[in-house]
Amino acid sequence: MTRDGGDTMATGAYATVPEPTPRHAVEYVRRRLAAWWETNARDLPWRFGRTTPWGVLVSEVMSQQTQMSRVVPYWSAWMDRWSDAAALAAAPKADVITMWGRLGYPRRALRLQECARVVSAECGDELPRTYDALVALPGVGDYTASAVMSFAYGERVAVIDTNIRRVLSRVFLGEESRGGAASPAERALADEVLPKDASRSVTWNQSVMELGALVCTAKNPLCGHCPVAGECAFLAAGRPGLGERRTRPRQRFQGTDRQVRGLVLEALRRLPEGTGVLERATVESLWKDRDQLDRCVAGLDEDGLIELLPGGDVRLPE
Ligand code: SF4
Repeated sequence: MTRDGGDTMATGAYATVPEPTPRHAVEYVRRRLAAWWETNARDLPWRFGRTTPWGVLVSEVMSQQTQMSRVVPYWSAWMDRWSDAAALAAAPKADVITMWGRLGYPRRALRLQECARVVSAECGDELPRTYDALVALPGVGDYTASAVMSFAYGERVAVIDTNIRRVLSRVFLGEESRGGAASPAERALADEVLPKDASRSVTWNQSVMELGALVCTAKNPLCGHCPVAGECAFLAAGRPGLGERRTRPRQRFQGTDRQVRGLVLEALRRLPEGTGVLERATVESLWKDRDQLDRCVAGLDEDGLIELLPGGDVRLPE
């Protein structure tokens, strides 16, 4: 589970360790971003200490591959229904898949429930407080563990996601970040510019990420409205190769297996309560290409997202 996608970048993007970043530039960017965060941070319900560490983890899992603004109604309904790991662990799978709704990549929902079962059964329903214990949970990778350590527990940990990589690379190196996993040099830069004070480090992680989401976007960075434009090496260099090295090309959706799988799941979610089973004839009406449809139904069954019944009817798992 990762926001970063593939692993094609063992070398290349920053094959050499960059020069140490000038102190005055780092301090300027920290101060400007902290002030910007004060007045521009979105009021998301899992921020500002208003939820539990478990709620923070749920928000991070939901936000992978889905915009935070879209996540809000799903997160709120989810936490209303299953406020902690024990509640989610005990939920029927069909309800978990239904509540995931149109967030996309529904296997994340099942992984989150697996995680909830471990937290509930082995950790006394308390999310672990160390990075190593977090990253050992089902479906929790480096990004999610770091985000929970920083945002939920206030620890000094460099959080590295696509937005943060893009902003740091532009501001301090003057170039676009590249795709693939974060390189050692990118991690070194993230550690170097992270404030030493734990509380400031949390604000830093959140504000850099927020700047990447709202201002320093991949294709159209709003440099004219950017609080750190005065020390941005990328802007000073004339924004070389803007958008060329996007972390991942935008994925086509129309006609893909993802679309077909989504149609089948959506039809199951929409069944009147108590019906439960989608008949084969209805499944066949969802998509013209029978081979693709059958492949997708079989894939959903293999992934544990549906149950394929004799005769071709399908239902959500128990
Ligand atoms: S000045 Fe432009 S490129 Fe630099 S951080 Fe701000 S929005 Fe991004």
